[in-house]
Amino acid sequence: SQRTLVLLKPDTVRRGLVGEVLGRFEAKGLSIVAMDLRTIDGDLADQHYAEHVERDFYPPLRTFVTSGPLVALVLEGDEAVEVVRALNGATDGRKAAPGTIRGDLSLSNRENLVHGSDSPESAEREIKIWFPDLP
Ligand code: ATP
Repeated sequence: SQRTLVLLKPDTVRRGLVGEVLGRFEAKGLSIVAMDLRTIDGDLADQHYAEHVERDFYPPLRTFVTSGPLVALVLEGDEAVEVVRALNGATDGRKAAPGTIRGDLSLSNRENLVHGSDSPESAEREIKIWFPDLP
C-alpha cells in the first residue's frame, strides 16, 4: 500500500465540488488517512511548488492556491500515486479525458481542481510539508 498527497484546490471548495471529487477517490477504494480544510500562505505554496517557483505560470498559480480554503488530504491504497493521477486526468482540464476529474469538471489549465503527488518520493516530501505530525 502507498500514500499520496492530494489537494482539492480552492476552485473545488468555491464551486461546491468537495463531495463530488472526494467521492470519486473514495468510490475507487482509496482510504482517507488525513484531511484538513485550510487557507495557506505564500510560503507554504512556495514549499509545495518548489519545482515551479521560477516558472512564468507560478505567480498566478501562487495567487490562486492562496485565494481561499482548500482541502489537503493524504490518501492511501495500492499504487495510490498513479491511481490518483489517473483519476485526476491531464493537467489542462480542456484536454483531460472525459471520465477524469479534470476532464469532467474543469475547463482550465490553472483552476484544475486537484493536485496529486507525481511520484512516491514527491508524496513523501509533500506529506511532510502538509502533515508534519502524521505518523
Ligand atoms: P499537480 O501537480 O497540481 O497535480 P500536474 O502535475 O498535472 O498538476 P504540474 O505541471 O505539476 O501539473 O503543474 C502544477 C500546477 O500548476 C497545475 O496543476 C496547474 O494548476 C498549474 N499549471 C501548470 N501548467 C500551467 C500553465 N501552463 N498555465 C497555468 N497554470 C499551470
